[in-house]
Amino acid sequence: MTKAPLPWQTPLWDGLISRFRAGSLPHALLFTGSVGYGKSVLAEALIHGLLCQSPTDDGVACGECQSCNLLMAGTHPDLMWLEPEEAGKAIPVDRIRAVGEFLALKGQYSDRQVVFINPAEAMNRHAANSLLKTLEEPSEDALLILISSQPSLLLPTIRSRCQQVVFPQPAAQVSEAWLQAQLKNAVEPATIKNLLALSNGAPLAAQALHETGGVAVRHDLASLWVGVAEGRADPLVCAKQWSELGLPQATRWLSSWVMDLIRLKSGVDPVAITNGDLRPQLQKLVGGLELKQLFAYLAQITETARWANGQLNAQLAMEDLMVSWSRQRTVAK
Ligand SMILES: [Zn+2]
Repeated sequence: MTKAPLPWQTPLWDGLISRFRAGSLPHALLFTGSVGYGKSVLAEALIHGLLCQSPTDDGVACGECQSCNLLMAGTHPDLMWLEPEEAGKAIPVDRIRAVGEFLALKGQYSDRQVVFINPAEAMNRHAANSLLKTLEEPSEDALLILISSQPSLLLPTIRSRCQQVVFPQPAAQVSEAWLQAQLKNAVEPATIKNLLALSNGAPLAAQALHETGGVAVRHDLASLWVGVAEGRADPLVCAKQWSELGLPQATRWLSSWVMDLIRLKSGVDPVAITNGDLRPQLQKLVGGLELKQLFAYLAQITETARWANGQLNAQLAMEDLMVSWSRQRTVAK
């Protein structure tokens, strides 16, 4: 199947393609924006479009030429594709070191060589420093595309050597129509809206949530987490289950829920919250909690999230968070 941009990405796509045709694309692009906006989908479509031997008028790969066949087989010699072996793990430093050697070669099928790094924050400091050398003296025909939903975690020198492309939140109508078309079974419009709301308006995150039975998993994890606060559930058992989500996802959920608790604690009724489906549980908890403690817990979650890509042991990090959470309640009593 040809790789094309998603419906809400047309303005970004047109801009990138016209710059490519004008020869004004920089050597390094950094795609930023929330998880689930389709940054890597656009990057892949762009890479295919740039390496294709006969792209369409709007810059999309033909899907039939030799280059396209190699791309689809994952064996194109002018593309280096760097992702962690597992979500949440680091990209090893030796693979980043190999980028320099790769770019020292000439393109075999075109005059262009492309390196894709996703997520860029999965590079540890050594890896990032190694990439910096490449970014300082890029070869003429190199294009590096870095993807990050947390660009604040990148070395400032990496950020400053890339041109940032910021992905905006897709319009609700476009997201809803797209999601409706993706979900095989007929799904109620209200469910579509709910999935998007739970995913902060990110269509691909909403799709993943639906397809992994995420709504049910989310409710189970919420019950456990509430149970820890109420002294009914073991924080270590809870941590084990939560760590299966992976730290990036787990910390996103936790921080969103704690922010809702803070809103409920400090707001005047009726308080608007992000996680409307969890309102009864959150509301029940909020009476026994203290605002100051909630802010401290939120800071701890944020700090864990900072290191969530391959630099922390997920199980141990979740245990720390769950033990703090169980104590918070004790303090509040
Ligand atoms: Zn092609």
